[in-house]
Formats: sequence, structure tokens, C-alpha cells
Amino acid sequence: MITFLLATRNRKKAAEFKRLLKGFPVRFLTLDLFPELPPVKEDGASFKANAIKKAVEPSRRTILPVLAEDSGLEVKELGGRPGVRSARFAGAAQDDHANVAKLLRSMKKVPNSRRQARFVCCMALAAGGRLIRTFQGTCSGSIARQPAGRTGFGYDPVFIPWGHAKTMAQLGPRLKDRLSHRSRAAMKLKQILEDVLEVEDLLV
Ligand code: IMP
Repeated sequence: MITFLLATRNRKKAAEFKRLLKGFPVRFLTLDLFPELPPVKEDGASFKANAIKKAVEPSRRTILPVLAEDSGLEVKELGGRPGVRSARFAGAAQDDHANVAKLLRSMKKVPNSRRQARFVCCMALAAGGRLIRTFQGTCSGSIARQPAGRTGFGYDPVFIPWGHAKTMAQLGPRLKDRLSHRSRAAMKLKQILEDVLEVEDLLV
């Protein structure tokens, strides 16, 4: 069993991680259990830069390997915004409803043919103050005209994945786990974990 510090305080994100790694002999402790760790300033210019910072900084102060991720929504018509500012698009409060409302206002006059967007997730794995690997996943789709659905979080109620007619929040967790940016990044992480666990088996 490998225990990771999962460097997030977002409970819904943590729940997705746990679902995605189900069946693997891994355990996640989240930042709530480590109040002594200072918050990491997410001031990087890319998801990757932020994910690396969020993993490496806490890994200097714990013996656990640290898994972090930075994710967000890139909207083509908005030049890639909200991007790394997805959580704070409508202000520091990190309010999902306000973020969605601001996005829909910004897209009010954009026709259906120009509403392409994608979710991006970059995960970083670090230990002892050093970066081990990063893993990226994306999920393409378009922005709905109004929110719909109750599951998930963030922009899920206004994001329609390619090949579907409903929003991610309507499609539900099982389908989200098959097609999301986070599940695609997690697939790459799982390959590495399989190798590590195989080596551990050989050593027993
Ligand atoms: P982070 O915690 O700084 O990585 O912020 C990520 C932000 O991007 C979240 O607060 C959401 O607004 C958005 N986001 C990331 N992943 C998802 C997702 O799976 N669904 C909906 N919104 C997401």
C-alpha cells in the first residue's frame, strides 16, 4: 500500500481522485490533515507550473510522496481564459456559481459554432522536494447556453463533452470518470504506479 499526500483541499476533486484510483493499493491523505503546511501560491503561468509547485513545495516538509494537480477550463473564443484562473474567474471567493455566471455572460453573444472549450488537468508527483513526473489529460467539448445538471463541480453544469448532448453535470460521475481530463491524466499515473507496485512485489 502506498500512502500519498493529495495536495488539495477541494473535497470534490479528492473524491474524484479516490474513485479514479479505486482498486489500486494506494491511500490518499488530503491537506486538511496537515494544517502546518502553508498554502501554495498558485501564480504559475501554466497548469503544469502550478501543479509542480503544489507538489514540490509540500514534499519538502513530509516524508510522504505528494500528488498534486492543477486544472481548469480553456475557452477558445476567450483566448484560452479562464485557464489557470478558472477557480478565481469571478473573484477570490472561488465561487463555482459566480464563475459559471461570469462565463455565460462573457459568451452571451457567441454563436453555437464558436463555443469550443476544453478542460485540462496536469498532475505532478513529487517526493523529498523533487519532481518525479507530470501527467496531463484533456477533455474537449463546448459551452452550453445555460447551466444544467447537479453532479460534479466547477464548470461541469455548462460543459458539454464532444459526442454528447448533455452537460458533464447531467452525465454523472460514472461517465465523467470515463472521459474527463482528470481520468485521462490518472490513466498515465496508473501506468507508473503499476510499474512501481510490480517492482515492490519482486522485492518481497
Ligand atoms: P484548482 O483547484 O486551482 O486546480 O482549480 C481548478 C478549477 O478549475 C476549479 O475550481 C473549477 O472551477 C475548474 N475545474 C477543474 N476541473 C474541473 C472539473 O472536473 N469540472 C469542472 N470544473 C473544473
